[in-house]
Amino acid sequence: MLPTFIRETTDRTEKGDFLALDLGGTNLRVFRVRLTEEEQKKPKLDIEQWPISKKIKEGTGEQLFDHIVDRLIEFLDSQNLKGQTLPLGFSFSFPCEQKQIDQSILLCWSKDFNCSGVEGEDVVKLLKEAIHRRGSYDIGSVAMVNDTVSTMMSCGYWDRSCEIGMIIGTGTNACYMEKMKNVEYMDGEDGLMCINTEWGGFGDDGSLEDILTEFDKGVDNTFENRGEHIFEKMISGMYLGEIVRLVLIKLTEEKLLFKGEAFAALLTPGKFETRFISEIEEPDSGLENAQQILAKLNLKWDLVDARVVRLVCDTISSHSACLFAAALATIANRIRLNRELDYLKTAVGVDGTVYKSHPTFRNKLQKAVPTLAPKCDIKFLESDESSGVGAAMAMAVLQRLAQ
Ligand code: BGC
Ligand code: MG
Repeated sequence: MLPTFIRETTDRTEKGDFLALDLGGTNLRVFRVRLTEEEQKKPKLDIEQWPISKKIKEGTGEQLFDHIVDRLIEFLDSQNLKGQTLPLGFSFSFPCEQKQIDQSILLCWSKDFNCSGVEGEDVVKLLKEAIHRRGSYDIGSVAMVNDTVSTMMSCGYWDRSCEIGMIIGTGTNACYMEKMKNVEYMDGEDGLMCINTEWGGFGDDGSLEDILTEFDKGVDNTFENRGEHIFEKMISGMYLGEIVRLVLIKLTEEKLLFKGEAFAALLTPGKFETRFISEIEEPDSGLENAQQILAKLNLKWDLVDARVVRLVCDTISSHSACLFAAALATIANRIRLNRELDYLKTAVGVDGTVYKSHPTFRNKLQKAVPTLAPKCDIKFLESDESSGVGAAMAMAVLQRLAQ
């Protein structure tokens, strides 16, 4: 549970010209976001995006931040913005202990990032140092936010009842607006504070031991950050393919699949990609997709195998959706009890490839939540381009509050 220094969502009176950076698990994106007073009030956006290479993810922190700043400067050139110092929102998809809105210490890398010299350091400082190394540009004030916070902020622009932001993509996490008086390690009793739950790290103290399967444990063993981000490893996109692969190996060993023959593709970590799960679960073309994928993996399959693989995918994505639902329900129930309400009506902003690309994940999630939070009516808002826009909005709100 980490305070984010975000005290309010937008009231849509904010205006101005902002830059935003979004370092996600997969892509780096740079945005220019213009909030205007025009009637329809749709923010004006310019975006550029680059995938983050394995080399960058595993290089030094200096290389990472030089790369980010080079892309930022390229973008400023293309927008004819050089020489202007616009305020910058920085959406960063990793667990940070925030000291101030512009001072944020990386606690540990997650997903498959492992850049040296960044853990324990202030990420905003590293960004500014990289900017100074380039010498040609200066940035204005910086608001650093977690990607869940930017998701909540951008969805909150369209629906002011949005007070939860959550992600299920490469990784998973959520934030929500908490009463300041409940935030023990911060002074002040009044108003609200957005809390970054970092629920991906739930279970790292052994509290999920009872529900971890042998497959969850198997997945944890194959990753560098062993023992960390246990809940994330049970449900998020980076790991779901691996869970399915381990289940398929087990079924093969028990002679229930592929005539008991474990082929190379099955035994190679990472070979069964998470996107295969989405393709195999497509309602109409799923079985056909399954056959094509099994053929491409050089597995010797028959129709029964294809059906079993489909069933495994459905089981694993349902398991993920139900656990994700349980985590969301916990937050919603907490907000309801905090406010001493019989019934809570609220909204959650959601982002992430698992939610957006899997054909049935959202249905599974939305079906499970009412069982677990029967006194909460939760509206799901899907974000588009959220991380950058939301980070810019966080900056815009701070400016409004400072006025
Ligand atoms: C990180 C979170 C982030 C989430 C979703 C997790 O691995 O710890 O900070 O919000 O991924 O991107
Ligand atoms: Mg993202």
